[in-house]
Amino acid sequence: MYDLLLKNAWVVDPLNSVNGIADVAVLDGKIAKVQREIQDHAKEIIDFTGMVLQPGIIDSHVHLGIMWGSPFGPRMLAMNGVTTCLDMAGPLEDILDNVPTYGVGINIAILQFASPPFTFKNSAPTQQEMTDLIDKSLADGALGVKLLGGHYPLDPEVSAQLIRTALERKAYVAWHAGTTKNGSNINGMIEAVKMADGYPMHLAHINAYCRGAIHDSMEETRIAIDLLKANPNICCESYISPKNGTRLTCNPDGSVQSKVTGNCLRAFGFTEDADGIRKALLAGKAFAVYDAGGYSDLATGEQALKLWEEAGSDVGGSFNINPPLPRIALAQAKRDDGSFVVDAISTDGGCIPRNVILSQGLSLVKLDILSLSEFAQKTSLNPARMLRLENKGHLSINADADITVYNLETQTPVASFIGGRKVLFNGELVSKGATVICTEHGKNAIEARGMKAIVVDPGKQIKRIPAS
Ligand SMILES: [Zn+2]
Repeated sequence: MYDLLLKNAWVVDPLNSVNGIADVAVLDGKIAKVQREIQDHAKEIIDFTGMVLQPGIIDSHVHLGIMWGSPFGPRMLAMNGVTTCLDMAGPLEDILDNVPTYGVGINIAILQFASPPFTFKNSAPTQQEMTDLIDKSLADGALGVKLLGGHYPLDPEVSAQLIRTALERKAYVAWHAGTTKNGSNINGMIEAVKMADGYPMHLAHINAYCRGAIHDSMEETRIAIDLLKANPNICCESYISPKNGTRLTCNPDGSVQSKVTGNCLRAFGFTEDADGIRKALLAGKAFAVYDAGGYSDLATGEQALKLWEEAGSDVGGSFNINPPLPRIALAQAKRDDGSFVVDAISTDGGCIPRNVILSQGLSLVKLDILSLSEFAQKTSLNPARMLRLENKGHLSINADADITVYNLETQTPVASFIGGRKVLFNGELVSKGATVICTEHGKNAIEARGMKAIVVDPGKQIKRIPAS
Protein backbone atom coordinates (compact mmCIF):
# COMPACT_ATOMS: atom_id res chain seq x y z
CA MET A 1 0.00 0.00 0.00
CA TYR A 2 1.62 3.26 -1.18
CA ASP A 3 0.93 6.66 0.34
CA LEU A 4 0.58 8.31 -3.04
CA LEU A 5 0.28 7.16 -6.63
CA LEU A 6 0.69 9.72 -9.42
CA LYS A 7 -0.69 8.28 -12.63
CA ASN A 8 -0.31 8.76 -16.38
CA ALA A 9 1.98 11.82 -16.52
CA TRP A 10 4.83 12.12 -19.04
CA VAL A 11 7.68 11.37 -16.62
CA VAL A 12 11.12 12.90 -17.22
CA ASP A 13 14.03 11.69 -15.09
CA PRO A 14 17.34 12.29 -16.88
CA LEU A 15 19.50 10.40 -14.36
CA ASN A 16 17.53 7.19 -14.97
CA SER A 17 16.87 7.85 -18.67
CA VAL A 18 13.11 7.89 -18.08
CA ASN A 19 11.23 9.91 -20.71
CA GLY A 20 7.68 8.71 -21.36
CA ILE A 21 4.27 8.01 -19.84
CA ALA A 22 4.58 6.30 -16.44
CA ASP A 23 3.16 6.06 -12.93
CA VAL A 24 5.11 7.19 -9.85
CA ALA A 25 4.50 5.62 -6.42
CA VAL A 26 5.54 7.28 -3.15
CA LEU A 27 5.95 5.67 0.27
CA ASP A 28 7.20 7.36 3.48
CA GLY A 29 8.26 10.47 1.57
CA LYS A 30 10.47 8.53 -0.86
CA ILE A 31 10.09 7.35 -4.44
CA ALA A 32 8.94 3.71 -4.24
CA LYS A 33 8.44 2.80 -7.89
CA VAL A 34 8.39 4.33 -11.38
CA GLN A 35 6.99 2.23 -14.22
CA ARG A 36 4.54 2.29 -17.13
CA GLU A 37 1.59 1.07 -15.08
CA ILE A 38 1.46 0.52 -11.31
CA GLN A 39 -1.59 -1.48 -10.19
CA ASP A 40 -0.92 -1.63 -6.41
CA HIS A 41 -3.16 0.13 -3.92
CA ALA A 42 -2.42 3.61 -2.60
CA LYS A 43 -3.99 5.86 0.03
CA GLU A 44 -4.32 8.58 -2.59
CA ILE A 45 -4.28 8.35 -6.39
CA ILE A 46 -3.93 11.47 -8.56
CA ASP A 47 -4.28 11.39 -12.32
CA PHE A 48 -1.91 13.67 -14.26
CA THR A 49 -2.83 12.65 -17.79
CA GLY A 50 -1.41 15.12 -20.32
CA MET A 51 0.98 16.72 -17.81
CA VAL A 52 4.77 16.50 -17.44
CA LEU A 53 6.22 15.19 -14.16
CA GLN A 54 9.89 15.76 -13.28
CA PRO A 55 12.08 15.76 -10.15
CA GLY A 56 11.23 18.89 -8.11
CA ILE A 57 12.49 22.14 -9.62
CA ILE A 58 15.55 23.54 -7.86
CA ASP A 59 16.18 27.24 -8.44
CA SER A 60 19.89 27.75 -7.77
CA HIS A 61 19.75 31.55 -7.54
CA VAL A 62 16.96 33.33 -5.68
CA HIS A 63 16.43 36.10 -3.12
CA LEU A 64 14.26 35.70 -0.04
CA GLY A 65 15.43 38.61 2.15
CA ILE A 66 12.88 41.40 2.56
CA MET A 67 15.45 44.02 1.51
CA TRP A 68 15.23 42.61 -2.07
CA GLY A 69 11.47 43.07 -2.45
CA SER A 70 9.03 41.52 0.04
CA PRO A 71 8.71 38.61 2.50
CA PHE A 72 6.82 36.59 -0.14
CA GLY A 73 9.81 34.95 -1.87
CA PRO A 74 9.02 31.38 -0.69
CA ARG A 75 5.39 31.82 -1.74
CA MET A 76 6.31 33.21 -5.18
CA LEU A 77 8.74 30.33 -5.78
CA ALA A 78 6.30 27.63 -4.70
CA MET A 79 3.51 29.12 -6.83
CA ASN A 80 5.87 28.62 -9.78
CA GLY A 81 6.58 24.96 -9.04
CA VAL A 82 9.93 25.36 -7.25
CA THR A 83 10.54 22.82 -4.44
CA THR A 84 14.11 23.76 -3.41
CA CYS A 85 16.04 27.00 -3.72
CA LEU A 86 19.40 28.56 -3.01
CA ASP A 87 19.13 32.06 -1.56
CA MET A 88 22.04 34.15 -2.82
CA ALA A 89 22.37 36.99 -0.31
CA GLY A 90 20.38 36.57 2.91
CA PRO A 91 20.15 38.38 5.27
CA LEU A 92 20.16 34.99 7.04
CA GLU A 93 18.37 36.09 10.24
CA ASP A 94 15.65 37.88 8.31
CA ILE A 95 14.89 34.83 6.15
CA LEU A 96 14.87 32.36 9.05
CA ASP A 97 12.82 34.68 11.27
CA ASN A 98 10.19 34.89 8.52
CA VAL A 99 9.76 31.12 8.02
CA PRO A 100 7.02 30.66 10.67
CA THR A 101 4.90 33.40 9.04
CA TYR A 102 5.83 33.15 5.37
CA GLY A 103 7.22 29.60 4.92
CA VAL A 104 5.27 27.44 2.47
CA GLY A 105 7.08 24.15 2.97
CA ILE A 106 9.86 24.44 0.37
CA ASN A 107 13.52 23.53 1.01
CA ILE A 108 15.79 26.52 1.45
CA ALA A 109 19.58 26.90 1.42
CA ILE A 110 20.88 30.33 2.39
CA LEU A 111 24.13 32.11 1.63
CA GLN A 112 24.90 35.03 3.91
CA PHE A 113 26.20 38.09 2.05
CA ALA A 114 29.78 39.03 2.76
CA SER A 115 29.50 42.61 1.61
CA PRO A 116 30.18 46.17 2.61
CA PRO A 117 28.34 48.21 3.77
CA PHE A 118 26.17 45.43 5.27
CA THR A 119 28.06 42.56 6.88
CA PHE A 120 31.50 44.20 6.54
CA LYS A 121 32.25 47.77 7.62
CA ASN A 122 34.29 48.54 4.47
CA SER A 123 35.81 47.01 1.33
CA ALA A 124 38.91 45.72 3.16
CA PRO A 125 37.82 43.56 6.12
CA THR A 126 40.52 41.92 8.25
CA GLN A 127 41.14 38.17 8.33
CA GLN A 128 39.48 38.06 11.75
CA GLU A 129 36.35 39.83 10.48
CA MET A 130 36.10 37.30 7.63
CA THR A 131 36.54 34.28 9.88
CA ASP A 132 34.01 35.64 12.37
CA LEU A 133 31.38 36.31 9.70
CA ILE A 134 31.79 32.88 8.05
CA ASP A 135 31.81 30.91 11.32
CA LYS A 136 28.82 32.77 12.72
CA SER A 137 26.85 32.37 9.48
CA LEU A 138 27.50 28.61 9.33
CA ALA A 139 26.65 28.19 13.02
CA ASP A 140 23.38 30.08 12.49
CA GLY A 141 22.37 27.77 9.62
CA ALA A 142 23.79 29.31 6.44
CA LEU A 143 25.17 26.98 3.78
CA GLY A 144 27.92 29.47 3.04
CA VAL A 145 28.63 32.99 1.90
CA LYS A 146 28.02 35.12 -1.16
CA LEU A 147 30.25 37.91 -2.43
CA LEU A 148 28.10 40.64 -3.95
CA GLY A 149 31.15 42.01 -5.74
CA GLY A 150 29.22 43.28 -8.75
CA HIS A 151 27.10 45.55 -6.54
CA TYR A 152 29.25 46.19 -3.46
CA PRO A 153 32.83 45.27 -4.38
CA LEU A 154 35.73 44.25 -2.15
CA ASP A 155 39.38 44.80 -3.06
CA PRO A 156 40.69 42.02 -5.39
CA GLU A 157 43.16 40.56 -2.85
CA VAL A 158 40.50 40.72 -0.15
CA SER A 159 38.05 38.84 -2.40
CA ALA A 160 40.62 36.09 -3.00
CA GLN A 161 41.41 35.88 0.71
CA LEU A 162 37.72 35.68 1.59
CA ILE A 163 37.14 32.82 -0.85
CA ARG A 164 40.15 30.92 0.52
CA THR A 165 38.95 31.47 4.08
CA ALA A 166 35.42 30.31 3.26
CA LEU A 167 36.66 27.20 1.45
CA GLU A 168 38.99 26.31 4.35
CA ARG A 169 35.98 26.43 6.63
CA LYS A 170 34.01 24.18 4.22
CA ALA A 171 31.45 26.84 3.41
CA TYR A 172 29.63 27.04 0.07
CA VAL A 173 31.05 30.04 -1.78
CA ALA A 174 29.25 32.00 -4.46
CA TRP A 175 30.41 35.18 -6.13
CA HIS A 176 28.61 37.79 -8.18
CA ALA A 177 31.83 38.72 -9.98
CA GLY A 178 33.31 42.15 -9.53
CA THR A 179 35.94 43.81 -7.33
CA THR A 180 37.05 47.39 -6.75
CA LYS A 181 39.28 46.79 -9.81
CA ASN A 182 36.87 45.09 -12.23
CA GLY A 183 33.12 45.54 -12.45
CA SER A 184 30.22 43.16 -12.98
CA ASN A 185 31.26 42.33 -16.55
CA ILE A 186 33.31 39.83 -18.56
CA ASN A 187 36.60 41.19 -17.13
CA GLY A 188 35.20 40.79 -13.62
CA MET A 189 34.27 37.20 -14.50
CA ILE A 190 37.78 36.46 -15.80
CA GLU A 191 39.22 37.92 -12.59
CA ALA A 192 36.84 35.88 -10.39
CA VAL A 193 37.67 32.59 -12.14
CA LYS A 194 41.38 33.34 -11.72
CA MET A 195 40.91 34.06 -8.02
CA ALA A 196 39.02 30.81 -7.44
CA ASP A 197 42.42 29.31 -8.27
CA GLY A 198 41.08 25.87 -9.19
CA TYR A 199 38.94 25.51 -6.05
CA PRO A 200 35.18 24.90 -6.20
CA MET A 201 33.18 28.09 -6.47
CA HIS A 202 29.67 29.01 -7.64
CA LEU A 203 29.84 31.90 -10.08
CA ALA A 204 26.46 33.65 -10.14
CA HIS A 205 24.31 34.37 -13.22
CA ILE A 206 26.80 34.07 -16.10
CA ASN A 207 24.43 36.02 -18.39
CA ALA A 208 25.12 39.13 -16.28
CA TYR A 209 28.70 39.27 -17.62
CA CYS A 210 27.52 39.02 -21.25
CA ARG A 211 25.56 42.26 -21.65
CA GLY A 212 27.97 43.95 -24.04
CA ALA A 213 29.67 46.19 -21.45
CA ILE A 214 33.22 45.49 -22.72
CA HIS A 215 32.89 43.72 -26.11
CA ASP A 216 29.97 42.68 -28.30
CA SER A 217 27.61 40.62 -26.10
CA MET A 218 28.02 37.43 -28.18
CA GLU A 219 31.82 37.82 -28.12
CA GLU A 220 31.58 38.06 -24.32
CA THR A 221 29.38 34.95 -24.32
CA ARG A 222 32.02 33.04 -26.30
CA ILE A 223 34.73 34.19 -23.86
CA ALA A 224 32.57 33.14 -20.89
CA ILE A 225 31.86 29.67 -22.35
CA ASP A 226 35.55 29.03 -23.16
CA LEU A 227 36.54 30.18 -19.68
CA LEU A 228 34.05 27.82 -18.01
CA LYS A 229 35.15 24.91 -20.20
CA ALA A 230 38.76 25.50 -19.13
CA ASN A 231 37.82 25.82 -15.43
CA PRO A 232 35.55 22.92 -14.49
CA ASN A 233 35.95 23.81 -10.79
CA ILE A 234 33.49 26.65 -11.39
CA CYS A 235 29.83 25.67 -11.11
CA CYS A 236 27.32 28.20 -12.31
CA GLU A 237 23.86 29.11 -13.48
CA SER A 238 22.37 31.65 -15.84
CA TYR A 239 18.85 32.98 -16.00
CA ILE A 240 16.52 33.58 -18.90
CA SER A 241 14.60 36.72 -18.00
CA PRO A 242 15.47 39.96 -19.80
CA LYS A 243 15.17 41.67 -16.39
CA ASN A 244 17.99 41.89 -13.86
CA GLY A 245 17.75 42.58 -10.13
CA THR A 246 19.49 45.39 -8.32
CA ARG A 247 18.87 48.12 -5.75
CA LEU A 248 18.07 51.76 -6.50
CA THR A 249 19.52 53.13 -3.26
CA CYS A 250 21.43 56.43 -3.45
CA ASN A 251 23.99 57.76 -1.00
CA PRO A 252 23.37 61.13 0.75
CA ASP A 253 25.53 62.88 -1.90
CA GLY A 254 23.22 61.59 -4.67
CA SER A 255 25.61 58.91 -5.98
CA VAL A 256 24.27 55.43 -6.68
CA GLN A 257 25.21 52.73 -4.12
CA SER A 258 25.13 49.64 -6.39
CA LYS A 259 27.69 49.44 -9.22
CA VAL A 260 25.22 47.30 -11.23
CA THR A 261 22.62 50.07 -11.08
CA GLY A 262 25.34 52.45 -12.31
CA ASN A 263 26.11 50.11 -15.25
CA CYS A 264 22.42 49.89 -16.19
CA LEU A 265 21.88 53.64 -16.04
CA ARG A 266 24.96 54.17 -18.23
CA ALA A 267 23.78 51.52 -20.72
CA PHE A 268 20.45 53.32 -21.16
CA GLY A 269 22.09 56.75 -21.48
CA PHE A 270 21.29 58.15 -18.02
CA THR A 271 23.65 59.70 -15.49
CA GLU A 272 24.81 57.43 -12.66
CA ASP A 273 23.11 59.33 -9.85
CA ALA A 274 19.75 60.04 -8.23
CA ASP A 275 18.76 62.28 -11.13
CA GLY A 276 19.54 59.44 -13.58
CA ILE A 277 17.37 57.03 -11.59
CA ARG A 278 14.53 59.56 -11.51
CA LYS A 279 14.69 60.00 -15.30
CA ALA A 280 15.05 56.23 -15.94
CA LEU A 281 11.97 55.49 -13.83
CA LEU A 282 9.92 58.16 -15.61
CA ALA A 283 11.13 56.88 -19.01
CA GLY A 284 9.96 53.34 -18.21
CA LYS A 285 13.54 52.02 -18.35
CA ALA A 286 13.99 51.37 -14.63
CA PHE A 287 11.53 49.40 -12.50
CA ALA A 288 10.99 49.47 -8.72
CA VAL A 289 10.08 46.33 -6.78
CA TYR A 290 7.20 46.75 -4.36
CA ASP A 291 5.16 44.63 -1.99
CA ALA A 292 1.86 44.14 -3.82
CA GLY A 293 0.24 42.22 -0.93
CA GLY A 294 0.97 38.49 -1.02
CA TYR A 295 3.61 38.86 -3.74
CA SER A 296 5.99 41.50 -5.04
CA ASP A 297 5.66 43.22 -8.37
CA LEU A 298 7.43 45.75 -10.57
CA ALA A 299 6.34 49.32 -11.11
CA THR A 300 7.67 51.94 -13.51
CA GLY A 301 6.81 55.54 -14.49
CA GLU A 302 5.17 57.93 -12.01
CA GLN A 303 4.05 55.13 -9.70
CA ALA A 304 7.62 53.85 -9.38
CA LEU A 305 9.04 57.33 -8.83
CA LYS A 306 6.58 57.84 -5.97
CA LEU A 307 7.53 54.47 -4.39
CA TRP A 308 11.22 55.26 -4.74
CA GLU A 309 10.91 58.74 -3.22
CA GLU A 310 8.72 57.57 -0.35
CA ALA A 311 11.26 54.87 0.52
CA GLY A 312 14.08 57.46 0.56
CA SER A 313 15.47 55.68 -2.57
CA ASP A 314 16.01 52.42 -0.65
CA VAL A 315 14.11 49.96 -2.88
CA GLY A 316 14.90 46.94 -5.06
CA GLY A 317 14.95 47.63 -8.77
CA SER A 318 15.25 46.11 -12.21
CA PHE A 319 16.25 46.97 -15.78
CA ASN A 320 15.60 45.09 -19.07
CA ILE A 321 19.35 44.75 -19.47
CA ASN A 322 19.88 41.14 -20.65
CA PRO A 323 20.08 40.75 -24.45
CA PRO A 324 18.34 37.56 -25.70
CA LEU A 325 21.04 35.71 -27.68
CA PRO A 326 23.58 35.31 -24.83
CA ARG A 327 20.80 33.90 -22.61
CA ILE A 328 20.01 31.25 -25.24
CA ALA A 329 23.66 30.41 -26.03
CA LEU A 330 24.46 30.02 -22.30
CA ALA A 331 21.44 27.76 -21.78
CA GLN A 332 22.53 25.45 -24.60
CA ALA A 333 26.35 25.31 -24.45
CA LYS A 334 27.94 21.91 -23.77
CA ARG A 335 31.40 20.59 -22.97
CA ASP A 336 33.15 17.97 -25.11
CA ASP A 337 31.88 15.21 -22.77
CA GLY A 338 28.25 16.30 -23.35
CA SER A 339 27.72 17.94 -19.94
CA PHE A 340 26.42 21.50 -19.75
CA VAL A 341 28.91 24.39 -19.54
CA VAL A 342 26.44 26.41 -17.46
CA ASP A 343 25.17 23.83 -15.01
CA ALA A 344 21.74 25.19 -14.25
CA ILE A 345 18.91 27.46 -15.30
CA SER A 346 18.11 29.79 -12.41
CA THR A 347 15.91 32.89 -12.12
CA ASP A 348 17.57 35.31 -9.67
CA GLY A 349 13.92 35.59 -8.64
CA GLY A 350 12.25 34.68 -5.36
CA CYS A 351 10.86 37.93 -4.00
CA ILE A 352 12.16 39.68 -7.13
CA PRO A 353 9.23 39.09 -9.51
CA ARG A 354 10.73 36.95 -12.27
CA ASN A 355 10.21 33.33 -11.26
CA VAL A 356 10.15 32.26 -14.88
CA ILE A 357 11.78 28.80 -14.95
CA LEU A 358 8.58 27.28 -16.35
CA SER A 359 6.91 30.29 -17.99
CA GLN A 360 10.01 31.29 -20.01
CA GLY A 361 12.32 28.25 -19.60
CA LEU A 362 9.91 25.93 -21.37
CA SER A 363 10.09 28.23 -24.40
CA LEU A 364 13.63 26.87 -24.84
CA VAL A 365 12.09 23.39 -25.13
CA LYS A 366 9.52 24.57 -27.65
CA LEU A 367 12.26 26.27 -29.70
CA ASP A 368 14.22 22.98 -29.66
CA ILE A 369 17.13 24.64 -27.82
CA LEU A 370 16.80 22.09 -24.99
CA SER A 371 15.08 18.70 -24.95
CA LEU A 372 12.57 18.03 -22.17
CA SER A 373 15.13 15.79 -20.53
CA GLU A 374 17.82 18.49 -20.75
CA PHE A 375 15.39 20.99 -19.24
CA ALA A 376 14.84 18.65 -16.25
CA GLN A 377 18.60 18.19 -15.96
CA LYS A 378 19.23 21.96 -15.83
CA THR A 379 16.35 22.72 -13.47
CA SER A 380 16.68 19.80 -11.05
CA LEU A 381 19.45 17.22 -11.44
CA ASN A 382 22.34 19.64 -11.95
CA PRO A 383 21.34 22.17 -9.25
CA ALA A 384 20.86 19.23 -6.84
CA ARG A 385 24.47 18.26 -7.56
CA MET A 386 25.59 21.86 -6.99
CA LEU A 387 23.95 21.77 -3.55
CA ARG A 388 25.42 18.28 -2.88
CA LEU A 389 21.88 16.93 -2.41
CA GLU A 390 22.35 13.28 -3.32
CA ASN A 391 18.70 12.29 -2.78
CA LYS A 392 17.19 15.05 -4.89
CA GLY A 393 17.14 15.85 -8.61
CA HIS A 394 16.13 12.34 -9.70
CA LEU A 395 13.39 9.75 -9.22
CA SER A 396 15.52 6.73 -8.27
CA ILE A 397 14.00 4.29 -5.77
CA ASN A 398 14.42 5.79 -2.27
CA ALA A 399 15.18 9.28 -3.58
CA ASP A 400 13.26 12.10 -1.86
CA ALA A 401 9.78 12.33 -3.38
CA ASP A 402 10.29 15.95 -4.49
CA ILE A 403 8.25 16.35 -7.67
CA THR A 404 7.02 19.13 -9.94
CA VAL A 405 4.14 18.57 -12.35
CA TYR A 406 3.52 21.11 -15.11
CA ASN A 407 1.52 21.77 -18.23
CA LEU A 408 3.93 22.05 -21.17
CA GLU A 409 1.35 23.64 -23.42
CA THR A 410 0.62 26.58 -21.09
CA GLN A 411 4.08 26.54 -19.43
CA THR A 412 2.46 26.68 -16.00
CA PRO A 413 2.86 24.55 -12.86
CA VAL A 414 0.11 22.11 -11.92
CA ALA A 415 1.31 20.59 -8.64
CA SER A 416 4.38 20.06 -6.47
CA PHE A 417 5.30 17.59 -3.75
CA ILE A 418 8.17 17.67 -1.27
CA GLY A 419 8.98 14.41 0.51
CA GLY A 420 5.67 13.14 -0.89
CA ARG A 421 3.77 15.99 0.81
CA LYS A 422 1.62 18.31 -1.30
CA VAL A 423 2.96 21.87 -1.53
CA LEU A 424 1.23 23.37 -4.59
CA PHE A 425 -2.11 21.76 -5.30
CA ASN A 426 -5.22 23.02 -7.11
CA GLY A 427 -3.65 26.46 -7.42
CA GLU A 428 -3.15 26.77 -3.64
CA LEU A 429 -0.16 26.44 -1.35
CA VAL A 430 -1.05 23.83 1.24
CA SER A 431 2.17 23.46 3.31
CA LYS A 432 3.93 25.57 5.92
CA GLY A 433 7.41 26.06 7.36
CA ALA A 434 10.70 25.18 5.68
CA THR A 435 13.42 22.59 5.61
CA VAL A 436 16.83 24.25 5.68
CA ILE A 437 19.83 22.87 3.80
CA CYS A 438 22.91 23.70 5.89
CA THR A 439 26.31 22.41 6.98
CA GLU A 440 26.93 20.24 10.05
CA HIS A 441 27.75 23.45 11.98
CA GLY A 442 24.23 24.85 11.61
CA LYS A 443 22.07 21.78 12.24
CA ASN A 444 21.45 22.57 15.93
CA ALA A 445 20.52 26.20 15.30
CA ILE A 446 18.01 25.22 12.62
CA GLU A 447 16.46 22.49 14.77
CA ALA A 448 16.29 24.89 17.72
CA ARG A 449 14.04 27.05 15.53
CA GLY A 450 11.72 24.06 15.10
CA MET A 451 12.71 23.45 11.47
CA LYS A 452 14.10 20.37 9.79
CA ALA A 453 17.72 20.47 8.63
CA ILE A 454 19.31 18.65 5.70
CA VAL A 455 23.07 18.55 6.27
CA VAL A 456 25.32 18.65 3.22
CA ASP A 457 29.07 19.02 2.76
CA PRO A 458 29.91 21.87 0.35
CA GLY A 459 33.55 20.67 0.41
CA LYS A 460 32.57 17.58 -1.57
CA GLN A 461 33.51 17.31 -5.26
CA ILE A 462 30.70 17.85 -7.81
CA LYS A 463 30.39 15.14 -10.47
CA ARG A 464 28.99 16.45 -13.76
CA ILE A 465 26.72 14.22 -15.81
CA PRO A 466 26.52 14.28 -19.62
CA ALA A 467 23.08 15.29 -20.89
CA SER A 468 20.90 12.35 -21.88
ZN1 LIG B 1 20.98 37.61 -7.29
